[in-house]
Amino acid sequence: MTLFEKIVARQIPAEIVFEDEQVLAFRDINPQAPVHILIVPKRVIPRIGLAVESDASVLGHLLTCVPEVARRSGVAEGGYRLVINNGRDGGETVPHLHCHLLGGRPLAWPPG
Ligand code: AMP
Repeated sequence: MTLFEKIVARQIPAEIVFEDEQVLAFRDINPQAPVHILIVPKRVIPRIGLAVESDASVLGHLLTCVPEVARRSGVAEGGYRLVINNGRDGGETVPHLHCHLLGGRPLAWPPG
C-alpha cells in the first residue's frame, strides 16, 4: 500500500478536510504555506505522467472537489495554487498522485 492508501484506510492518522467516494483531502504534515492540503484519488494513479484515458473521470472529479476544499480551508476568497509534482525534477516524493492546494499567503511566481 502507498502512504496515502494507508491514510485513506485510516491506518495512518491525518487531519481530513474533505472526503467522498473517490477522493480524500487532508492537511500536509510539512506545510509549505498556512494552508497546505493534499487531495488524492483513493484509487492509486502513481503520477500524472502515468495517467491514462480511464483515469480521466477520477482526475476530473478531483478537480471539481477543489472549490469545496478551498471553502472549507478558508482560502476560497483570497486565492490559492494547485501543484502536482511529477518525477525527480518535479519534486515528487510519494508515488500516489496528489494535488497540493496551497494558500493563506501570497505565493511567489515563478516557483522555486
Ligand atoms: P510530493 O513531494 O509532491 O510527492 O508530496 C508529498 C507530500 O506528502 C509532501 O508535501 C509531504 O510533506 C506530504 N506527506 C508525507 N507524509 C505525510 C503524512 N503522513 N501526512 C500528510 N502529509 C504527508
